[in-house]
Amino acid sequence: MELSFILNELGEERENYFNAVSPPIIQSSNFTFNTVTALRQAMADEFDTNLYSRGQNPTLSILRKKLAALDGADDALIFSSGIGAISVPLLALLKSGDHIVAVESPYSWTIKLFKELLPKFGINTTFIDGTVYENFETAVTPQTRLIFLESPNTFSYELQDIKKVAAFARSRGIISMIDNSYCSPIYQQPINMGIDLVAQSATKYIGGHSDVVAGVLTGSKELIRHIFDHEFMNLGPAISPHSAWLLLRGLRTLPLRLQRSFESTGIITQWLQNQEHIQQVIWPFSAGFKQTQLAHEQMQGCGGLFSFSLKNSSFKKIEAFCNNLQHILLAVSWGGHESLILPSIASISEQEYEATDERLQLIRMYVGLEDTEYLIQDLKQALAKI
Ligand SMILES: *Cc1c(COP(=O)(O)O)cnc(C)c1O
Repeated sequence: MELSFILNELGEERENYFNAVSPPIIQSSNFTFNTVTALRQAMADEFDTNLYSRGQNPTLSILRKKLAALDGADDALIFSSGIGAISVPLLALLKSGDHIVAVESPYSWTIKLFKELLPKFGINTTFIDGTVYENFETAVTPQTRLIFLESPNTFSYELQDIKKVAAFARSRGIISMIDNSYCSPIYQQPINMGIDLVAQSATKYIGGHSDVVAGVLTGSKELIRHIFDHEFMNLGPAISPHSAWLLLRGLRTLPLRLQRSFESTGIITQWLQNQEHIQQVIWPFSAGFKQTQLAHEQMQGCGGLFSFSLKNSSFKKIEAFCNNLQHILLAVSWGGHESLILPSIASISEQEYEATDERLQLIRMYVGLEDTEYLIQDLKQALAKI
């Protein structure tokens, strides 16, 4: 299906709403029926009927079709957060005694899910360095039910060979799942590489305007329906029709925003690499990235998040640099219109800082939609002051 068709037409039955170009926000919790028979039918199949908005809703249905098609998947489920799109399927598909193999440094709340919540239900996880394919083969046990990937991750950008891991999982009857937030379906399509379930924080690129928190999960009809019928309806992570509408609006410009963010990041990372104050720049499409060949094989482009470190880094120096920025905002999250900075030291105290720990020296930047020259000038003046 063509990208332009998905973003501009798919799922939009305009004759049902006065031929409005922009779809309506059906802000209704429930839907009415003319007969008991019709009501009974709807109650028997909430997955495909508008009965109650904890399940389906017409504004969500439009989004659901578009998000599934973007991933090349049969179907999609939409959640009130990205982490909901990760935790709910795991709770739906796994049971006590099951084992997970996961990459070692996924998103922070994903780590907490594996280390704290799932063990309460007897589900344990082995963390591995996913850059080495053989580690997956070594880590699986007869109890392994799921392999969890995040490629690239959003702080140090390690990749996994998605096709190879997906084929291995399939050969062993293990479900494969990936967090694809970094690339979005515009730059990486894991379903086409054999992955079973693709999660994304829609808060980031899909929303794109820093005004909505949401998540999306795509996969086969069978898996998505199973997750919906079971834990999705029980745990209740539905999003509001208004939030769904904001995501629909975000989708209209998704490829444009990504292209801009990708191109600007190329320019900014290259500029930074040539500055005397800079120790290293990590971005999957920069020269010198450890897995550059794999990056170009499985990604059609790169997200606008990268990390860098300062020469002779210290806790105070990193703080001073970040505090000196005048336009680039100090904040978590990413994927919106605005450029952001997040130093690793924001999660520790000065006493916990270890000069030899390279990860603690990293400063993450997200490149938004501003002019690159505007951003470079801001970085330049902040570097000049340290
Ligand atoms: C933000 C993020 C999440 C969580 O998404 P929320 O929408 O904040 O719940 C998961 N994975 C990655 C890679 C993220 O960046």
